[in-house]
Amino acid sequence: MHIIFDLDNTLSDEFGKAPRPGIQVYLQKWNDEGHRLSLWTSSTKRRAVTILNDHDLRKYFSTFIFREDYDPDHTGAVKDIRRIDGDILVDDDPEQINFINSIGKKGFLIKPYRPDGNVEPKELQELDKFIRRSSGPLRWLRFKRIKS
Ligand SMILES: [Mg+2]
Repeated sequence: MHIIFDLDNTLSDEFGKAPRPGIQVYLQKWNDEGHRLSLWTSSTKRRAVTILNDHDLRKYFSTFIFREDYDPDHTGAVKDIRRIDGDILVDDDPEQINFINSIGKKGFLIKPYRPDGNVEPKELQELDKFIRRSSGPLRWLRFKRIKS
């Protein structure tokens, strides 16, 4: 699957100060399972790359869409993941997720991560399950066969 991630409040807090607890372990897991991960953010390239580098998150992603690439005037444009052949969008913005569902793609609405707030430890597990369910059984059988 090609899974697209939002940055602010999804991978990190809104200031880019801290990554969501446990996210690196899962990003590595999904990479290892053969998923392709991309980043799509309404942040500027300059800001986003700084945050990704600060927390060593860049290595997990193969494609990067920044504000300049899809919404240069910052009008709140939707993330049309069909443009990069995406399957799933993970985002904390309900409007983005509603759009994704309206075009028949899969959206996972994640609770905004705030370092001073409550982190739901089960949430990344839920996302992992969502990805597995979306991948379908055939993909998993194939994966197991390659591994064994
Ligand atoms: Mg966000």
